[in-house]
Amino acid sequence: MKFLVHTYGCQMNVRDSEAVEALMLAAGHEKAANEDEAEVVIVNSCTVRQKAEEKAVGKAGNLIAAKKITGLMGCAVKRMGADVFKRLPKLDFAVAPRAFGLIPRILADGRFPRLELGDDVAPESLAAHVEGGWQAFVTVLLGCDNRCSYCIVPDVRGHEYSRPAKEVIAEVAALARRGVKEVCLLGQSVLRYGIRNAAWEAERSSAVSTREAFPRLLRALAEIDGIERIRFTSAHPSGCTDELIQVYQDCPKVCRHLHLPVQSGSDRILKEMGRRYTRADYLAAVRRLRAFDPEFAVTTDVIVGYPGETADDFEATRSLMEEAGFDNAFVFKYSPRPGTRAAQLPDDVPTAEKERRDQVLLADQESRGQRRNDALVGTVREVLAEGPSKRNPARWSGRDGGNRIVVWDRADGARAPAPGERVHLRITAAHPQILIGEPT
Ligand code: SAH
Ligand code: SF4
Repeated sequence: MKFLVHTYGCQMNVRDSEAVEALMLAAGHEKAANEDEAEVVIVNSCTVRQKAEEKAVGKAGNLIAAKKITGLMGCAVKRMGADVFKRLPKLDFAVAPRAFGLIPRILADGRFPRLELGDDVAPESLAAHVEGGWQAFVTVLLGCDNRCSYCIVPDVRGHEYSRPAKEVIAEVAALARRGVKEVCLLGQSVLRYGIRNAAWEAERSSAVSTREAFPRLLRALAEIDGIERIRFTSAHPSGCTDELIQVYQDCPKVCRHLHLPVQSGSDRILKEMGRRYTRADYLAAVRRLRAFDPEFAVTTDVIVGYPGETADDFEATRSLMEEAGFDNAFVFKYSPRPGTRAAQLPDDVPTAEKERRDQVLLADQESRGQRRNDALVGTVREVLAEGPSKRNPARWSGRDGGNRIVVWDRADGARAPAPGERVHLRITAAHPQILIGEPT
């Protein structure tokens, strides 16, 4: 059958969708060129905020109306459980985030409606990748046990589980043989890799796993020929250890960028959220990274309008963002999620005030991004080329190790860089989110 997968949400969903595509292709299905042509459409859903869930459910509703065989996978399915068929009575099948490996079999059986909510994931389905491309996501840590007060992820993605290092290394080596140059390792709190369950054989007998499991994994992956860059996300300040910094020192393939979601700059709110660090702990982690390399890129996530967030709490977030000197920031307006601790508190920051705080932080980040990027003018960045720039196809675009977008003019008659090709660019101008360069 001709199929398409439509994805909402985070990189983890992007990765799961890719695995589903690979499994569908292996089962003999064919990817449709567009939605009209598709007989089966699978919508991968997000539920981290209410709006995200509504978008995915709305999309599935439209596909059902268009008489496609429609499946819903991902986080919203697990949240709704059997109620998903109340929202979408004609949905054909629904699978929870860890059950996507069952999709080809569900389609082969053809017995609809079908609901799969299990948390057991088959290792083969985790390692399935579509051929082609020079970048790949690799899931190393599933689920989350942190239970931050606002967050629904632990309810929908299950308990934290570290994949055996052996499997991850074999997967990355296989990707490298297929031409992948850059991998991004995924986990909700990826620096906890190997802490809840041992990931390395040697650790299994000792029952106690160590803080070194993730740095060790990075070192092992850095030895794989063909892999040029290793990224990972998301990080937590408690994982910014000396061992991790030593890895940056020793392994140039490991990119000097951390996505380090802070959520708030107010100690009172951080405590209520259950984030397990203070403002001072967080800033100390950022200082450690920047003391090692002043150009170390640090990006973050922030929530505005958490229940009870006062003007003072908000100002604390503003000042923390300034002190941390973030290179980029994603700001989210608090959305109560059913079953979370925070959902029991009144959602008392008015929508208009959440919007205002969002805009203030974004404006701050614009000028901060400009300042951070201005400091890079005159430096030479090592960039892996991605292709024509989206905004201006007369330019090429790529990213440096800090995940900064760098664009440069196509010289007349010059050969187009191959995707993933390494180029060195001297930065000539800077914008808040983009650097302009020229080949050296
Ligand atoms: N595991 C990551 C975050 C995953 S969710 C971490 O802990 O760093 C991605 C982002 O969505 C979070 O960082 C947070 O900023 C935002 N988010 C999560 N729940 C939210 C909610 N209920 N309302 C608004 N934003 C939320
Ligand atoms: Fe959610 Fe916190 Fe887990 Fe991140 S660490 S997924 S914010 S509970």
